[in-house]
Amino acid sequence: MSKDTVVVLKSINYSEADRILTVFGKHIGKFTLFAKSMRKINSKNRGNMQTLNICNISFYEGKGLPLLTESQLVYAPDTEILKDRIDDIKRVLDILNKILQENDPNERVFDLLTSVCKKNFDIESINRFRVIFLKEMGYLGDFSVCNSCESTKDLKYLDLSSFALLCKNCYSKAGKGYKLGDNPYIEKNFTQALDIYIKRVIEEI
Ligand SMILES: [Zn+2]
Repeated sequence: MSKDTVVVLKSINYSEADRILTVFGKHIGKFTLFAKSMRKINSKNRGNMQTLNICNISFYEGKGLPLLTESQLVYAPDTEILKDRIDDIKRVLDILNKILQENDPNERVFDLLTSVCKKNFDIESINRFRVIFLKEMGYLGDFSVCNSCESTKDLKYLDLSSFALLCKNCYSKAGKGYKLGDNPYIEKNFTQALDIYIKRVIEEI
């Protein structure tokens, strides 16, 4: 029997009462799991294994997909708050479902994802998560130097096409992008630029 702590990323109905789950495990990484009879009313896994819930699970690895045996709920985000954040949640699930590789564990990304869940997917933690996720996956450069001249000073400008930081000097030459505010992660411009950058990354995979 194997065990891990997982976040549920996706849930698809299968045959009459079963479900196929995609989960992101702290130690195992992303993998697919077969949840037999999960849709039956008396299934304990039914409430626990909802999308975006954090659970401790046991599963059996035989032939075919790993089989979910037991689950314990660790944390469930507030569904009342999540209801109004469907688009923001999609921003997180899209990159996890499309960019994250199977069986490639990353504890930093996992821990950060659980904190996004615990903050009920507010836009600041989503954008922080997305930036660190892209860096960990190798899709984003170094945010501590200017993307053009490698200066470390006055890095207050964002180049929209490469989603990289520019110094004041290079920004005034290129003129493409915008000046970041005190907390870039909550700015609409930043969210939109990140959306566009991620869309391009996904298309290129
Ligand atoms: Zn520069």
